[in-house]
Amino acid sequence: MQQLKKSSPRGEMELSTREHAAASRSNVERLVSAGSPVALFLDIDGTLLDVALTPSTVHVPPNLSQLLDSISARLSGALAIVTGRQIQEADRLLQPSKFVAAGVHGGQMRFSAEGSIATLTPRFDSALTEDIKKIVEDLPGIVFEDKGSGIALHYRLAPDLQSSLLMMLETLVPKYPNQFAICEGRKVVEVLPVGFSKGRALRKLAALPQFANRIPVMVGDDIADIDAFRAAEDLSGFGLKVAGENFSKDESSFQGPAEVLDWLQILAGSGR
Ligand SMILES: [Mg+2]
Repeated sequence: MQQLKKSSPRGEMELSTREHAAASRSNVERLVSAGSPVALFLDIDGTLLDVALTPSTVHVPPNLSQLLDSISARLSGALAIVTGRQIQEADRLLQPSKFVAAGVHGGQMRFSAEGSIATLTPRFDSALTEDIKKIVEDLPGIVFEDKGSGIALHYRLAPDLQSSLLMMLETLVPKYPNQFAICEGRKVVEVLPVGFSKGRALRKLAALPQFANRIPVMVGDDIADIDAFRAAEDLSGFGLKVAGENFSKDESSFQGPAEVLDWLQILAGSGR
């Protein structure tokens, strides 16, 4: 819901949430067109691509990799992918391009576009993997995904099973104390090693030479992106929300992936 305008103690009108979201988006647009040093951090699903029934059935617009390449060139390489997917999966979707990336919420990192993928997480506990598989056996329609650094359970095909799935995981995961966390997202529940988040991943990437001393901008649509918005804002940058299942249209800078892509065209200098 849109916030009411409030007067600050100094009598100035504060921006409503809706105005703030729109202003942040225009500010970034203005900074990029003025050639100011911006670093762009992009989530994939629900941000660049419409969410599909299963992660493997997403539709990728044919010009997406080219578009991201042009923006990356314009930003002197300061464009990174920050996703819950594995980096190999991000590469597959964005082929033939490759970008600096954080995958599995920072469990995987690639510090240069052509560099190798580093796995930062400890090896995922095989006993826990087996226990999670057993849970899924009793819940038809749940799609089990082993991401190496974590396990994702997608319930878009069986939304009624969300609470049972959560309840079972909340019973199971504490049996491995202080090792794993349950993270909820868009029709997905993930079990990840503790201490990894998109916020932490963004901070690491923002410290790289081609990203340092730039204004960080994170664009995302999911609960896991909130941490990365905060990290970007802490570094005097921007967090731009994409409306969908988690953020309302009023609080978001974009109404959906189609609008993000239009905006990226503008940033690339090929729009408007
Ligand atoms: Mg997303």
